[in-house]
Amino acid sequence: MPSPAPPFPARSHDFAPYAPCPNWIAGAWTPAASGETLPVYNPRHAEVMGHVALSGAADVARAVAAAKAAFPAWRDTPLKERVQVLFRLKALMERDLDELAWLVSHENGKVLPEAKGDVLKGIECLEFGLSLENMAQGEQLDVSRGINCSTTHEPLGVCAGVVPFNFPVMVPLWMLPQALAAGNTFVLKPSEVVPYGALKLASLLQEAGLPDGVFNTVNGSQPAVEALVDHPDVKAMGFVGSTKVAKLLYARGAALGKRMLCLGGAKNHLLVVPDADPELTATTVVASAYGCAGQRCMAASLMIAVGEIQPIIDQIASITRKLKLGEDMGPVISSAAVDRIHRYIDGAEQLGAKVLVDGRRVAAPGGKGWWVGPTILDHVRPEMPAGCEEIFGPVLSIIRARSVDEAIAIENASPYGNAASIFTSSGAVARHCIERFQAGMCGVNVGVPVPREPFGFGGWNDSLFGQGDLTGYDGFRFWTRPRKLTSRWSLSKDATWMS
Ligand code: NAD
Repeated sequence: MPSPAPPFPARSHDFAPYAPCPNWIAGAWTPAASGETLPVYNPRHAEVMGHVALSGAADVARAVAAAKAAFPAWRDTPLKERVQVLFRLKALMERDLDELAWLVSHENGKVLPEAKGDVLKGIECLEFGLSLENMAQGEQLDVSRGINCSTTHEPLGVCAGVVPFNFPVMVPLWMLPQALAAGNTFVLKPSEVVPYGALKLASLLQEAGLPDGVFNTVNGSQPAVEALVDHPDVKAMGFVGSTKVAKLLYARGAALGKRMLCLGGAKNHLLVVPDADPELTATTVVASAYGCAGQRCMAASLMIAVGEIQPIIDQIASITRKLKLGEDMGPVISSAAVDRIHRYIDGAEQLGAKVLVDGRRVAAPGGKGWWVGPTILDHVRPEMPAGCEEIFGPVLSIIRARSVDEAIAIENASPYGNAASIFTSSGAVARHCIERFQAGMCGVNVGVPVPREPFGFGGWNDSLFGQGDLTGYDGFRFWTRPRKLTSRWSLSKDATWMS
């Protein structure tokens, strides 16, 4: 029995080093074949908290071979028994909630309530996987007189997941529960920036009784991902991350005839019109823009202010100025992220935007770490980088528009968004916007804003899309293929094929 991951000791933001993070292959902690590692940083302290294996094609081949060997027995384990492992995982995650949350907070920088939110949302995704026991039914078709055709969903084999840095526990759980419950085995490539959430998940899955080889991790960066997508035994891949990499991987995997479900940036515009409820709009925009230091996929970082809404903007600025660094908002993920975000703010200012709230020269809590304070850029124009690119940090860019139609035109022409949220009290305005957003381009979120949840997930624009497609029933279908069971056709005496 291999040893479980050592418990993460921290129960405060004080710096805590952690054990090395190897790969998890066939139920054993395994260093990269090359012996190479990468440092893992704690962004609040800007200090190395551990090291992660830097894997290559040989490590991927080993993990895929382990998953392939484990597949037949796992596939043949009844669904009811497969989900029992996930039930136990849920109980273990609840037992270790504090440890998991502190771990996420240390490797990612989230403040503790946000880190807890990551874990709790992950548990919710797990609950969806558990429900497959009742939902994963096949279909019946009356083909003809006396002839029924039944269809079941069969696992694909070895599946893989590649995930981003911003939700170390939740995003892997967008994929794992459905894929494992469906009877697949899995190789996960965690983000090399935050690998410890997956290390803990592997350890808990083992404690929950998952057979060796059913779940494996290969840590590393681009070469590991490329070896994974190219491996002939990997049948399907779920990816979540930046749009650029999502497109590259989708093309690469699809060219090999694989199933690829690649979720990219997921940014969206906010449209605020003068009849919007000022207080609800201001608190919701702030929660969404600065929760997780603006590093959520759906962070509301681009707002189109329609007409005269200065009182709402003043209120947004006033709440923003009161946010306390280190308590309401954590650091950003790296020093490179600080530099990138500063470049966007500097560039916008040089091009004529007004820096309404300036997060560039903030005092770092504790005197160290990678901090950018919450920032508001007003009078950004749509063609400026800050008006059409993903800054991925605590910056709210405000574009001014004279009318709802001008705002819609800006949204429709922008490469930035794939959804929109409209702040209005008027059903007619909402309907007008919905009708004019480019069909298929936008998910549109209207209605009564959802108050902020304690861990900052409930920003209005987060409420609809928060968990991504992989949690839906179609996610289950993605990890399976339908199989028509001709052997189970029920033929009656008067069966005819042509009636
Ligand atoms: P990223 O695309 O840089 O990395 C994601 C994963 O891909 C990592 O595991 C990384 O190792 C790997 N990777 C990076 N470059 C690669 C390459 N050239 N080839 C192959 N693999 C590569 O993303 P990130 O910075 O970790 O995460 C932030 C991004 O994720 C943001 O753009 C955010 O909007 C997006 N995101 C989207 C969703 C969604 O629901 N659509 C959810 C969370 C995050």
